[in-house]
Amino acid sequence: MRLDRFLAHSGFGTRSEVKRLIKEGFVKVNGEEAKSPNLKIDESRDIVQVGEEIVRLQKWVYIMMNKPRGYVCSNNDPFSPTVFSLIPETLKYRNLHTVGRLDKDAEGLLIITNNGEYTHRVISPRKHIEKEYIVRLERELCEEKIKVFEDGIVLDDGYKTLPAKYTIIDDFTVSLTIHEGKYHQIKRMFESIGNKVVYLKRIRIGKLRLDENLKPGKYKVLDELEAFLVF
Ligand code: URA
Repeated sequence: MRLDRFLAHSGFGTRSEVKRLIKEGFVKVNGEEAKSPNLKIDESRDIVQVGEEIVRLQKWVYIMMNKPRGYVCSNNDPFSPTVFSLIPETLKYRNLHTVGRLDKDAEGLLIITNNGEYTHRVISPRKHIEKEYIVRLERELCEEKIKVFEDGIVLDDGYKTLPAKYTIIDDFTVSLTIHEGKYHQIKRMFESIGNKVVYLKRIRIGKLRLDENLKPGKYKVLDELEAFLVF
């Protein structure tokens, strides 16, 4: 891998920023000052330093995004912008994918990673990872009807949902916690009790909460400790 690419992918800035670091003499490879951004690096052998810091290529990347409405979670879509268009090239160097999906009209906590095993653990219903959503409804809530979610409800395709928890926020708004992610699950759960979701926002996965400072469309890179709060 080229030195400038290696540094950019290790979090030292954009390609032009890391080129400047190299030009200004801050970067050493195997103890020698690096003269060129084109220098080829063998990540398994060469020791790269920026100042005194030894640089390690991050194998796994975890991104928390506040997904905005109107964006889709697929890698490309002919009709709609994708969440990946909100991420800079320097982070797109490996096969990034979303950890589960949020509908185009839904917003909130979305994790994007290149760690497939992590994704599998988060989305597997057998792992019982909680996902909490704020749901706003078209018609006033009827507590008797929503109570059936606690035991599980049969959806239009015959699937019975796992027990869910809810907290009523006001006449039209509820926080709902589920452990699985069937296609349009929450919308279909409310449809089956004669209501309609008009706003949906995911605010938590496991113990990982959406950072309230992240405006829709913004993201931040998580360290492993933060990313593993979901378990
Ligand atoms: N349930 C839905 O209906 N949509 C989502 O995006 C997530 C959960």
